[in-house]
Amino acid sequence: MKEFAYDRPAQVREALTLVAGNAGARYLGGGTNLVDLMKSEIETPSRLVDVRHLPLDGIHEAPDGGLVIGATTTNSDVAAHPEVRRRYPALSQAILAGASGQLRNMATAGGNLLQRTRCAYFADPSEPCNKRVPGSGCAAITGEHHNHAILGWSDHCVATHPSDMAVALAAFDAVVHYETLDGVHEIPLSEFYPPVGDTPQQETVLPPGALITAVTLPASAVSPRSRYRKVRERASYAFANVSVAAALDVHEGTVRGARIALGGLASRPWRARVAESVLRDGPGTADMFRAAADAELSAARPLNDNGYKVTLARNLIEAVLTELAERTE
Ligand code: SF4
Repeated sequence: MKEFAYDRPAQVREALTLVAGNAGARYLGGGTNLVDLMKSEIETPSRLVDVRHLPLDGIHEAPDGGLVIGATTTNSDVAAHPEVRRRYPALSQAILAGASGQLRNMATAGGNLLQRTRCAYFADPSEPCNKRVPGSGCAAITGEHHNHAILGWSDHCVATHPSDMAVALAAFDAVVHYETLDGVHEIPLSEFYPPVGDTPQQETVLPPGALITAVTLPASAVSPRSRYRKVRERASYAFANVSVAAALDVHEGTVRGARIALGGLASRPWRARVAESVLRDGPGTADMFRAAADAELSAARPLNDNGYKVTLARNLIEAVLTELAERTE
């Protein structure tokens, strides 16, 4: 690991000033991803600005009836919060489906959004990787890619986004709040991760030096009827092959509201708006759930070794929606 400076500011403005204009500076949250990448020298920051002592911890009510999650709130605290469990259960389930208890005790909400892909070639400096070294190529496209993307990928990168939490946040129309020295800003999560295109190294739209301060969850009538399910290769401590965060309101056999987001399939949480439009005001039946999944997945472009994800995603979407329909009717 290379030497770095370390700062522990007490105020947001102080943190922003320490990072401003220093391309080698990084904010340090729980460190559960960044420190690993520093050990392998994939990340070599010259300065770490520890944000865990900033006043950004905790969960409170938003003026519109939603919730505000402070950026340094740990994943464990978000998952265990009674109002998250009651009003956004899929968010709590998604967090608990990720990592391990020890990691969730350290990892922060802001850091969770910024974690890097777990593509093995990204973590191996001996391999070409456009995300790590722009223009060097993508070893995964012709290499081992059974758990890579089937939606929205480009010839420059086929990696998936690793976060479970972000999938649930995408389903709930979460908004990311951040600060720069210019002031406070917000952006819907749906616009936070740009399409991969020819710049896979550009993983978010955050400007240089920006600090995530909070994530808000808008009030929602359908979010209490939500569920997160994740299929992975072992029972714990594994990233998703496919995951589904869904919320569904069915009344007298008709779908009144549906929210669906998919994980493990793309470079960002994939909001399934095509499937949602198929479901809207239609019958809440297994046939319709399958038709909605098929409509969404018609855009899938599997690689040589991950065609199984299309079937897996279709079956998982249908299963989650069927479970929610049986529960809400
Ligand atoms: Fe790198 Fe993306 Fe290719 Fe993986 S899929 S090797 S992260 S460019």
